[in-house]
Amino acid sequence: MSWVRELARPDIVALKPYEHASWEPGLERLHANELPWRPADDDSAAGLNRYPEPQPRALVERLAQLYSVAPASVLVGRGSDEAIDLLTRAFCRAGHDSVLICPPTFGMYSVCARIQGAQVAQVPLLAADGFALDAEAVLGCCGPGVKLVFLCSPNNPTGNLLEEAAILRLGRELAGRALVVVDEAYVEFADRPSLARKVAQLPNLAILRTLSKAYGLAGARCGALIADPEVIALLRKIIPPYAIPQLTLEAVLHGLRPAALDAARANRQVLLAERRRLLTALPHLARVGRVWPSEANFLLTQFADAGAALARAREASLLVRDARGYPGLAGALRVTVGTPEQNGRLLEAWG
Ligand SMILES: *Cc1c(COP(=O)(O)O)cnc(C)c1O
Repeated sequence: MSWVRELARPDIVALKPYEHASWEPGLERLHANELPWRPADDDSAAGLNRYPEPQPRALVERLAQLYSVAPASVLVGRGSDEAIDLLTRAFCRAGHDSVLICPPTFGMYSVCARIQGAQVAQVPLLAADGFALDAEAVLGCCGPGVKLVFLCSPNNPTGNLLEEAAILRLGRELAGRALVVVDEAYVEFADRPSLARKVAQLPNLAILRTLSKAYGLAGARCGALIADPEVIALLRKIIPPYAIPQLTLEAVLHGLRPAALDAARANRQVLLAERRRLLTALPHLARVGRVWPSEANFLLTQFADAGAALARAREASLLVRDARGYPGLAGALRVTVGTPEQNGRLLEAWG
């Protein structure tokens, strides 16, 4: 039996998926109980009266091209959040298996685990070492019940990259034992290439990518999992049959045209300059205790009185994220880098 089938939930391996209406665009559809007429004023390309193509081929191929991987290695979902949920469902038996997370980190990994009834093992990042990955401790914690290791790089909310060599070491040492899932939601803002290129050599490595951050398409809800084709095939069995709305498909293909990519790149340059500006200016403010360096589009900032800083931002009509609830982040707020005008207003509010 293949390592994917060994690792996954036996009932998911055995599951016979729902048979959606066959996708044969050359023929007229009297097989899916749709209405034959478009709604009035529907200007979508395909017609909203029709169910969308399951795992739309054009979108899968476009994302495969964007991420320089094979289409068989790509699962498209409603944001990368959906892939986190599907991985947890497919690999963790309720009441038996665990995911491993490295806090402080993105909250969805443990929420999806709890929804599935999986346990959450925790190996904190090394705060004194810039929130570095403690690979040794992760390995020590990976017993047979740990099926998924979630690593976020750049990490939300701390902003730092995890060391590539440490991630690859975990991939090698956990081969056949656990899937190492690297969430690269912010990698486009970092000075480092994606680890997607390593999946072909390390099949138990899986990469989460999203269009929500660097591509400015959070409202479209589109993200991807890049993984071994057998992992992708397994998740295609359990993703809802018509997961990607037609409007999302059309918006994303439009949002990834060459001209749109040029615009996204230009925005990214502005954003990186603004990140440098905030990183330079914030530590000079009397109320700011500390600013952590960031490879993402946000800055973790510590205040003597974070509650007052939140209130001052709000008075300037700006919301920043309260990060005080994360383990080890007393007094911390997470600030998304905005437009030059917004960043100026925030600095003024905290000045
Ligand atoms: C924003 C974010 C995501 C979610 O992305 P969607 O594709 O919008 O679901 C995933 N992981 C991390 C770490 C994030 O910060």
